[in-house]
Amino acid sequence: MTLRHLIVIACFVLITSISIFWQQMNQTLIINEQQYLLSEIANSEATAIERRLSSSLSTTHILAIEIQQNHGEFNDFDSYAQAVIDSIGGVSNLQLAPNGIIKNIYPLQGNEKALGHNILRDDLRSSEAQMAIERRQLTLAGPFELVQGGIAIIGRNPVFIKVQGKDTFWGFTSALIFLDKLLAVTKLEQLENKGYRYQLSRIHPESKKTEIFARSKHDLDPFPQSTQIKVPNANWTVTISRPMPTLWSDSATYSISILLGGLIAWLVSYILLQPELLQRKVRNKTAELEQLAFYDPLTGLANRRMLSQELQQFLSTVNDNNKAALLYLDLDDFKRINDSMGHNSGDHLLLKIASRLNKIVKKGDLVSRLGGDEFAILLFNTDSINNVSRVAKRLIKAVKKPVFIDERRFVISTSIGITLIPKDGKNAQSLLRNADMAMYVAKNAGKNGFSFFHQKLHQQAIEKHRIESELSNAIKRQELLLYYQPLIDLTTGKVKSFEALIRWQHPTDGLVTPDRFIGIAEESGLIVEIGYWVIREACQMINKGKVEHQQQLTIAVNLSPKQFMDPNLLENIQSILQDIDIDPHCLEIEITESSLMTDVTDAVDILEQLRTIGIKVAIDDFGTGYSSLAQLKKLPVDKLKIDRSFISSLASDQSDQKIVQAIIIMAHTLQIDVVAEGIETQQQLDLLKSKKCNIGQGYFFSRPVPFEQALKHL
Ligand SMILES: [Mg+2]
Repeated sequence: MTLRHLIVIACFVLITSISIFWQQMNQTLIINEQQYLLSEIANSEATAIERRLSSSLSTTHILAIEIQQNHGEFNDFDSYAQAVIDSIGGVSNLQLAPNGIIKNIYPLQGNEKALGHNILRDDLRSSEAQMAIERRQLTLAGPFELVQGGIAIIGRNPVFIKVQGKDTFWGFTSALIFLDKLLAVTKLEQLENKGYRYQLSRIHPESKKTEIFARSKHDLDPFPQSTQIKVPNANWTVTISRPMPTLWSDSATYSISILLGGLIAWLVSYILLQPELLQRKVRNKTAELEQLAFYDPLTGLANRRMLSQELQQFLSTVNDNNKAALLYLDLDDFKRINDSMGHNSGDHLLLKIASRLNKIVKKGDLVSRLGGDEFAILLFNTDSINNVSRVAKRLIKAVKKPVFIDERRFVISTSIGITLIPKDGKNAQSLLRNADMAMYVAKNAGKNGFSFFHQKLHQQAIEKHRIESELSNAIKRQELLLYYQPLIDLTTGKVKSFEALIRWQHPTDGLVTPDRFIGIAEESGLIVEIGYWVIREACQMINKGKVEHQQQLTIAVNLSPKQFMDPNLLENIQSILQDIDIDPHCLEIEITESSLMTDVTDAVDILEQLRTIGIKVAIDDFGTGYSSLAQLKKLPVDKLKIDRSFISSLASDQSDQKIVQAIIIMAHTLQIDVVAEGIETQQQLDLLKSKKCNIGQGYFFSRPVPFEQALKHL
C-alpha cells in the first residue's frame, strides 16, 4: 500500500466522520431549538391559565370576607354575587354552603338541582372539602362533569368565623368555573390551527392516575414540552408539541456522509495521482529515449553506445577465468544490394541477418548493430580460439543462407574480424578498432571469412597513419618523382612510348615503390592531388623531350578511379596541356578495368571526351576485372593492356594462352592495340609474338628508370 492509498483512506474516514458529526449536530440543534420554543409556549399558556384561575378563585375570598365581617350572615347574596362576577369575570356561579350544605347559588337558573347538596357527604367531592377544612385553605375540585352538564372546576374556600373568641368553621364559599371559559384566555385554539398539539392533565388526587382534561384533536408529537401549573391542592400540566421539521434518517445521514467522503477521497486521489501520472509519463519518455540511445531502431539490437558500455563494464571485471571475444562483422557487397534493390529491401535483409545472428549466439552474449551493414557480437566466457572460430564459422554459414525478399533470392556473405578480450585491447575503442582492422584482413583475403587480430596489424595501421601524414607533405617537399618504363613495338623492336610510374624519395626510408603508398593515398583522397602532379610532371617531360632532345615522346600516366570520377578532370588536364604547351596526342591515360565498370555509361562519356581532345586511352590490368570481352566493344579505347598475371604463367598455362589469344583477336577486330605487361622472358615474348600481340612491356626490355636513362632506349 502506497502513501497515496493511506492518505486517500484517511481522507475518506475523516470526511465521512465530520459529515456524520456535523449532520447529527445540526439535527440536535433543530430539536433543541424546537423544544425551547415549545417550552416557551407551554410556559406562556400555563401563566395565562394560572392568572385567570387565580383571579376567578379570588371571588371566594371576597365572599368569605363579607361573611366574616357580618358574623356568619350574608344579606342580599344575589346582588352581591352578581357585582362580584361582573367585575371579576371567568366565574360561572358563586355559592354559599353553610356547614357544607349548598344554600345559595347565583345565578340559580339551571343550578337548582344543586341546592341543598351536602358537600361533606358527597362521595366524589368530600375528600377535597375535608382537606380544605383541615388545611384552612382553598381547594380545587375537578375538573369534572357537572350534573347539569359541562366540565367545570370548583374552588372551595373554607370560612372560619370567631364564635366566643374561637375560630369556628362556618361553611364554604365556592366559585364554579367552566373549563372552556378558563381556557378561553389561552391561545391554545390558535396554536392548534397552526399545527401545534396540546394537552392539559393532572394527577388524580385519589387514583394517582394521569387524567387528561383538555387536549387538541390530534395526539402529541414526539419531543413535547411540558410546564406545571400550580393550583391550590394539585399540579396541572400543560404539554405542547409540534411536528419536527423533516430530519434525515440515520441511514440517509450515513449514506450521504459516505458518498461525500468517497467523493472527496476520489478528488484527493485524483489530485495526488497527477504527479504520479506525470512521473509515469516521464518514466515512459525516459525509457523511450533510453531505447533510442542504446538500441538500433531498425533491428532492435543494441547499438554502438550500448556495446561500448558493455565492453567497458566487462573490461572492469575481466580476469584470467573470465575472458571474452569481440566479433566485428561487415556484410560483403551489401551496398550493391542496397543500390540495386532499394533501401527497403536492404533493411529487410538486415533484419533477417540480425535475427540469424541472434539465433547463433548463446543467451547472454550481445549482438549489436554498429550502423549500415556492420554488426558486432560480444561473446562472453570464451577464451579459446577454437571456440571463437567455431562460432565465427557458424555465423558465416548462417549469413550465407539465401534470403528471399519479394520472391527474389539474395545471397550475401560476411567478413568477420575478431579481437580477444582483454589481450587485444584495453578499452572498447581499441577493441573495436582492432576488430575492424582484422575484418579488413578477412575482406582482403577474399571475403566470406574471418580473421583474428594480431599485433602486426596494429603496427601496419600505425605505419599507414605515418605514411598518410608524410605523404601529404611529399608533394610540397618535392619528394615524389616519376620513373619511366618503355613500351616496345614487337614488330619493329623499337620503343613506342613510355609509362610513367611514380616513386617516393622518402627522406629516411629511401626510394619507396607505389604499392606502399598508393592504396593509402586512394583511401585518404590524396590520390587526386598526386594524380594531377603526375600528369603535369609527365607533360613537362614530353616537353623536355621535344625541346632538349628533339624527340616526340608519348607518355602514359595511370589514373586512379577516384581521379577518373573527378568532375573537373577534363578541365584540369586541358589546363595542364595548355600551360606546358604540348600536343594532346603525346599523353596517354591508363585506367584500370575495374574503375570503368562501376558505371559504364559515365565511364564511356569521360573516355569519349578525353579522346575528343586528342588524348589516348588505355585499359590497364585487363582480364582481372568484371568486364567481359563482349563489353570491350562498348568502350572507346585505343589500347588494352593484358594483366601481368596472364603473362607470367603464359608458358605453362594453356588456358591463359587461350584467354590471351581471345583478347588479342577481339581487340584487333576492334582496332585496339594490345600491350602485354610484365614480359620477363624470351619464351613469353616469342609466344606473344606468335599470337600477334603488337606491344610489349616488362623487365625483359627495361625496368622503370629515371627520365634521362629511359631516353637511352630510344
Ligand atoms: Mg599501368
